[in-house]
Amino acid sequence: MMQQRFFDQAALLASKNTSLNKILFSFMLLGLAYLVCNVLNGADNFIRDTAENKIKGKMSLEIHKKVARLNLIDFEDTNKLDNLNKAEQGKNNLVLFAFDFTSIFTFYLPYFLFMGWYLFSLKPTLAVSIVFIFIPTAATQIIRAKVFAKLEDKSAPVRREYDYYESCIVGREYYKETRLLGGFDFFNKLYLESLDILQKLKYKATLRVNLIELSMQIFTVIGYFVVLLMLFNALMNQDISIGAFAAVFESISRLYSIMREIISDGISSMAKNVGTIENYINFLELDERKSALDLKLEWGDIFLENVSFTYPNSETYAVKNASFTLKKGETIAIVGENGSGKSTLVRLITGLYLPAIGRVTVSGYDTKDLSQKTLYENTTAVFQKYQRYQMTVEDNITISETNIEYNKSTLDNVCEIAGINMDESTFTEGYGTMLSREFGGVDLSGGQWQRIAISRGFFREHNLIVLDESTAAIDPYEETRIYKQFAKISKDKSAIIITHRLGSAKISDRIVVMKNGEVEEIGTHDELLQAGKEYTRLYTAQEQWYS
Ligand code: ADP
Ligand code: MG
Repeated sequence: MMQQRFFDQAALLASKNTSLNKILFSFMLLGLAYLVCNVLNGADNFIRDTAENKIKGKMSLEIHKKVARLNLIDFEDTNKLDNLNKAEQGKNNLVLFAFDFTSIFTFYLPYFLFMGWYLFSLKPTLAVSIVFIFIPTAATQIIRAKVFAKLEDKSAPVRREYDYYESCIVGREYYKETRLLGGFDFFNKLYLESLDILQKLKYKATLRVNLIELSMQIFTVIGYFVVLLMLFNALMNQDISIGAFAAVFESISRLYSIMREIISDGISSMAKNVGTIENYINFLELDERKSALDLKLEWGDIFLENVSFTYPNSETYAVKNASFTLKKGETIAIVGENGSGKSTLVRLITGLYLPAIGRVTVSGYDTKDLSQKTLYENTTAVFQKYQRYQMTVEDNITISETNIEYNKSTLDNVCEIAGINMDESTFTEGYGTMLSREFGGVDLSGGQWQRIAISRGFFREHNLIVLDESTAAIDPYEETRIYKQFAKISKDKSAIIITHRLGSAKISDRIVVMKNGEVEEIGTHDELLQAGKEYTRLYTAQEQWYS
């Protein structure tokens, strides 16, 4: 309306029917309207940006808390892991959706109603015909959104492959092996193949959308032409003023672009987002680990009674019908071939996983009933797949127990057990040395990293310690030394060691021999050798290396 007024005054001035003051006044009104518009826009953007980060932060926190409450075994299930990624995406889209949704009601809808009313008041037929121009645009945008959503579904798995092949060629973890073993051509071929599939999918979708868009454009152009004719006609018949003519002309193109904006940014992204928002909600509704008995455990025996366990999407038992007791203060070794169920068994003993059949009790309490806090409070572990934290030596060690006071001699102690020699040529800044090339520090060899993981395991206060092939990257001589130290300091603690070197298993009180998920034998080294079964077979096979 301000525009119309300004144009009208300008037209009058041109025919010398008005004063310069009047036109300046309408010009100022128009300027003021623009200014208010821009200020509101700026405020909107500012609120959006700050609110967006805050809301996203809160929602991430919900995801993290949920992850902490999930059953650990869910992380072995690729479908459920996918849910986590989808939830992250849903989180981002939920915020966008909320903004899109509110802006429809606070901005677009009032704008349209107002424009509609303005056009209608000028000439009723005008308002109706303009709507017709937009229908083809709306249809095109909706079809476009559908086609691209389908494209996204189809290309997501291909893109995952394609990203993976690329990382096999250029990724830091892969490139040495890829180069030495000449895998470049192999991966490159796979990479190009999946790229080709992606491009074909994209080409087909784009072609379809463009053809549809082109045909719809014809309608739009015709619609435009008709409205223009009507406008011109109304002007000639002096139904509307020159100012109104100009203002309508301008607002049609603006409405047109807003319409495109709503549909392409708003509705189509809203339609796409609804799906991913469901993922976020579904994730928050996943079953949780329910056990909640929070207490201070008097440390005692761990008792396994006919324990069986299968991994998600697997039909065979990883552990089958296992029964034995780990007495308080006892050290046992678990031995057996790769895949015989050793790592799974300790995850059941420590309560990380819960048995499908049978039960595990700690000091008389079923692991199913205890809260995770209670369960893990007494336990420390050095896992087979331990983590290499890109932090300082000190952080790498003390991360396992953040609630205690310690000093340099505490660190010296655990480093001595693990055989870490803090020599100044490697650890230039002592315990403050950064263990990461990316963050400007040093990198360590596999064996050195493993020793860091061992110190971390020992740093944590515990009644039970688990070492799962924790010395595999350390030479046998050093391994023996570490285990001797270990035996000395773990005298009154329960301990489980998993090792492939049967010579080291000898330090334990008893040895559990696993085979195909089952406990095949239990006994001392001498008893098992006497029995002359699986353990003897494994032991004699290794003895040959050493003699
Ligand atoms: P070990 O530690 O003795 O080498 P594991 O306990 O790691 O053996 O594995 C026991 C069995 O469980 C193996 O057959 C292995 O293939 C299977 N397994 C281990 N981890 C998973 C998993 N995340 N999903 C499915 N099967 C698994
Ligand atoms: Mg293992």
